[in-house]
Amino acid sequence: MSPENTRADADKYNQIFAEIQRDRERREKTYREQALKIYPWICARCGREFTGKRLRELTVHHKDHNHNNNPSDGSNWELLCLYCHDEEHSFYQDEESYEAAAPGSEQKPPSTYQPFAGLDALLKKKK
Ligand SMILES: [Zn+2]
Ligand SMILES: [Zn+2]
Repeated sequence: MSPENTRADADKYNQIFAEIQRDRERREKTYREQALKIYPWICARCGREFTGKRLRELTVHHKDHNHNNNPSDGSNWELLCLYCHDEEHSFYQDEESYEAAAPGSEQKPPSTYQPFAGLDALLKKKK
């Protein structure tokens, strides 16, 4: 395989990836706009109000966590600020995507210590 081919492949992948990304953004933009028409620009959790440039921080949350469930009456949507949205998802641990802006939210506590790691083996041995 020549280096040109490899580069062309990478380009193709990038193109497909960009397309998927664009598609998702387009879809999100659509339901976000709809949601912003239906609901007041207030975070449903913390009650903060958003206007002008800061409106970008207000995101659409899907109550059933299904991005494809977008009823036009907005019954599956909830407007949440980035921070509350983050909270909501760290609680449910699902894979819904959104732009997280909370600094340090990706930090995980160090958990290499497993107090019951040897217990399983011990119980099996005794059987
Ligand atoms: Zn909030
Ligand atoms: Zn959400």
